[in-house]
Amino acid sequence: MGVMDKKLNLYKRQIIQIGQRLYQKGLIVATEGNISVKVDENTLLATSQGIHKGSMTPGQIVKTDLKGVKLEGKGEPSSELKMHLAVYHTRPDVNAVIHAHPPVGTGFAVAGLALDQFILPEVVVTLGTVPLLKYATPTTDELAELVSDSIAQHDALLLANHGALTVGKDLMTAYYKMETLEQFARISLVARLLGRENILPPEAVEKLMELRAQYLRKFSS
Ligand SMILES: [Zn+2]
Repeated sequence: MGVMDKKLNLYKRQIIQIGQRLYQKGLIVATEGNISVKVDENTLLATSQGIHKGSMTPGQIVKTDLKGVKLEGKGEPSSELKMHLAVYHTRPDVNAVIHAHPPVGTGFAVAGLALDQFILPEVVVTLGTVPLLKYATPTTDELAELVSDSIAQHDALLLANHGALTVGKDLMTAYYKMETLEQFARISLVARLLGRENILPPEAVEKLMELRAQYLRKFSS
């Protein structure tokens, strides 16, 4: 087996593992969500359409180029691939994109609420804020353009009335960001239910922003 085939197999195993985690954590159900990884400047691996990501096989992962043209695989690449391609185009530092429908985060996206309050120090440092994109029909160029505009400044997005998207330098980093986004949403929801969401004061946020700058230098994207 050549070096490239070994690399592709490794990434396919990682995609399968991330799909299992997303499903087991309840961040997707049924055939929801999609995952992609940039293998090199001309090669992308993406989950194919209409499959259950909790129990994928290597054959359900499609190889495309960076324009989304299928190079290898049985199924068709995810209908949301345009959104992923827009990310790779805008952010050369990103090698993995995950789209899911985490229920609490998506609840915020349905309620028209961004996750943009500074309430949790570790989230400020590792994730930053999560903007809410306006609604656009899934699978369209319009949605891909909105994603492209926002992902330049953020590693995690909420898509109005739809779900969430996270990116990272590798699949696990993108996955952790999805977990953190959902936990951020859960805690914010509980605080709101308790009637009081105390926002960190500006001087505290300023210190955290210094830590975030260090964090980004160490673990870029
Ligand atoms: Zn979706």
